[in-house]
Amino acid sequence: MRKDFLVFGSPLIEKEEIDEIVATLRSGWIGTGPRVARFEEHFKKYIGSAEAVAVSSCTAALHLAMLVSGVGPGDEVITTPMTFCATANAVVHTGARPVFVDVEPDTGNIDPALIATAITPRTRAILPVHFAGRPCRMDAIEALARQHGLLLIEDAAHAIEAAYHGRKIGTIGDLTCFSFYATKNVTTAEGGMITTADAELAAKLKMYALHGLSMDAWRRFSDDGYKHYEARVPGFKYNMTDLQAALGLHQLARIGRNAARRQAIWARYDQAFETLPVVRPAPVEPGTVHGRHLYTILLKTEAIGKSRDEVLNELIRRNVGTGVHYTAVHLHHYYRQTFGFKPGDFPNAEWIGARTLSLPFSAKLSDQDVEDVIAAVNQVCVGV
Ligand SMILES: *Cc1c(COP(=O)(O)O)cnc(C)c1O
Repeated sequence: MRKDFLVFGSPLIEKEEIDEIVATLRSGWIGTGPRVARFEEHFKKYIGSAEAVAVSSCTAALHLAMLVSGVGPGDEVITTPMTFCATANAVVHTGARPVFVDVEPDTGNIDPALIATAITPRTRAILPVHFAGRPCRMDAIEALARQHGLLLIEDAAHAIEAAYHGRKIGTIGDLTCFSFYATKNVTTAEGGMITTADAELAAKLKMYALHGLSMDAWRRFSDDGYKHYEARVPGFKYNMTDLQAALGLHQLARIGRNAARRQAIWARYDQAFETLPVVRPAPVEPGTVHGRHLYTILLKTEAIGKSRDEVLNELIRRNVGTGVHYTAVHLHHYYRQTFGFKPGDFPNAEWIGARTLSLPFSAKLSDQDVEDVIAAVNQVCVGV
């Protein structure tokens, strides 16, 4: 058994990030400034989007994306229950109603055929989540949005590297939201980004992210003279800081190397678990790039003779930290209480939610860490 606890989702932070953080502190400019602007430029280039607006989190990104495109009270937003609660919470923050539809059992992604059946005259937007980094069926989803005149806003928190039929995630929907939370493929500790092709929406996002002010604070304090500012709308405090961008600049520069390392770990896990009573992630569909954010297995709990939580706790006792992505959102207390959701509403999401287990899957893992995880999973699931 391994000696020290393997923390789930621990990020790989290297010398360049640390030096950049120190340089940022020494520069005296730790708020929103030149490094945020540079991070936005680099992110835009990486994704291939016309615009990129950095914010304080993906939750903020989702909230703003909906607000600036006019989603509000009386509207419905169709989304997936197989996600982090922030996706649905952001819909609630706008005053709109989250309308869940079930997921495909093999991918955990929203089922486009079910989206079609959930569209009503009140539907304003479709909000798919690229689960674990696997792109949703964007051809079908985009066609539905076009046909019904709906906004397409994507939660790409897992999917920075992903592409669908030759198009990078971040260039398909009207607005796409990314996360740089500590466990994500690119991290700024906390942070988010919104990409869009629409310059007007981007300008509105910037204004809403900083108190609704008419110009950026960092220009306000630049050396080309004092600029007066005024609140145009009651905006939010959702801006990213240069300390966060200092991390992001170097994380983004290393995105390919880290993705290659995760792909190697993925291949090793796939091989190691071939004969175990678990369902491994579905193969990557041709013509797509998987963002490979999570390596989730579905436990065949009857064959193993243990519940998911029993397996999870035994792994923790063997010093292997794991994650659950996710307990279906409609089963969370708030969603049951407020919207009357109940077990049975979305059977595929519930089935996954009861059996899923995410294994440590970060570029930081050493080969020995990976072998420790495999040994522990074998011991817990089949006793060898
Ligand atoms: C992490 C995550 C979020 C929230 O991101 P934050 O940057 O922590 O706000 C939203 N949706 C999904 C699917 C996530 O995994």
